[in-house]
Amino acid sequence: MAMAGQNPQQRLETQIQSFSRSHFQRLRFFPEFENQFELDTAQQRGYRLWIEGVIAILIYDLFLISDHLIFPEKFFHAVMVRIAIVTPVAVVINTAMRFSLPRRLRESAVAAIMILFALSSLNLYFDVSRVMAAFAQTSIILILMFGNIVMRLRFPYAAAGSAICFAGDMVYLWADPWLNGPEKLVAFSLVSASIIFTLIANYSMEREERISYLLRLRGDMQSQDLSYVNAELTRLSNLDALTGLANRRYFDTYFALVWQQAVALNQPLSLVMVDIDRFKMLNDRHGHLHGDAVLARIAGMLQQGLRRKEDFVARYGGEEFVILLPNMALEDARRVAERLRIVVKSSVMPEGTDRSAAPVTISCGVASLCPRNNDQQQQLVESADRALYKAKSRGRDQVCADPEDAPLQARRFFVS
Ligand code: GH3
Ligand code: MG
Ligand code: MG
Repeated sequence: MAMAGQNPQQRLETQIQSFSRSHFQRLRFFPEFENQFELDTAQQRGYRLWIEGVIAILIYDLFLISDHLIFPEKFFHAVMVRIAIVTPVAVVINTAMRFSLPRRLRESAVAAIMILFALSSLNLYFDVSRVMAAFAQTSIILILMFGNIVMRLRFPYAAAGSAICFAGDMVYLWADPWLNGPEKLVAFSLVSASIIFTLIANYSMEREERISYLLRLRGDMQSQDLSYVNAELTRLSNLDALTGLANRRYFDTYFALVWQQAVALNQPLSLVMVDIDRFKMLNDRHGHLHGDAVLARIAGMLQQGLRRKEDFVARYGGEEFVILLPNMALEDARRVAERLRIVVKSSVMPEGTDRSAAPVTISCGVASLCPRNNDQQQQLVESADRALYKAKSRGRDQVCADPEDAPLQARRFFVS
């Protein structure tokens, strides 16, 4: 049995093991799997039962032809039983299969059709002739095959339905005036054997169906797990471990995406290259670990300093960052960069920084253009790089644009 405290996978494994044992057992899952099984299979099962029911009703009514030939004097009775009583009831029950009936009702209804067919056949073939008494046994065997093997009633319903058919047949044989004792014993044996065989087949088929369902469930669970692990790996492989920002690889992908969007929407796109000033000196003075802390702190400031959800910052490499500002022209991008520069300069750096020393600062190179084709993508990066170089050569701690410092007033900057 299932043990408390198991996670769903472990419970599923326990369930699979218990179903794989070869001894006879109740064909029922733990409640959570049983409900899932019913949910996953009910619709298809209902449809299959309906189709098979239609075929069975048609065949049942076709027997009217032989009824007419064998006992013309009882033909009206046959029409009444088959067409007026059994068929309408069977059709109503069968049509209900199209609607999502609760499991018990659905299985009882199918068993009811089987019993109806059996008892009505016994009724029609009663006291006709010696041969018909034997054929009545054949019809019971056929109906057992229909219910237990073709319709594949769930096992308890198959067993109950078979028992009722069997009881009906025993009453028939007891009352039958044509067969002698040994012949009745043959009839009894044939019907009993076919009940045993069809129930064994029924049980095995349901067990196989349930085992393959469990295995499919296990496959689904495993692939869900894998897709979660994959998503997590993708996420991690896109992040820079030290700063938690997007890494260079992620930037490349995102850049291409944003670029396509800018081309499609005919919008400007700005790019800012950010480089920490004299970082090597900071490392040399306070140690590499401290350098790491400063790097992470500045990364956080850049991230928080961006205001629109489409703005994007990544670690470009070393102590350099890159910022993408979709649908933003140069002058606004310069303002953003300027704001970030001031934020960094005025902030307190992690413990260990020499307070009397000059604050940690950044230099920014800004470029902007209205993307037209993919060749320009590299141009935008190079342009921002040149602007950054200019900011460094002009004394650092400042924002520059390329090719020329554009005035801060409204003016769009295009690279042709
Ligand atoms: P500049 O103002 O011209 O940019 O001077 P700089 O010292 O910042 O530039 P440079 O390129 O000479 O040195 C960059 C330094 O950044 C060198 C390297 O040790 C340091 N650095 C790069 N990545 C990391 C990192 O992940 N952690 C730490 N602590 N230092 C890093
Ligand atoms: Mg650098
Ligand atoms: Mg630097």
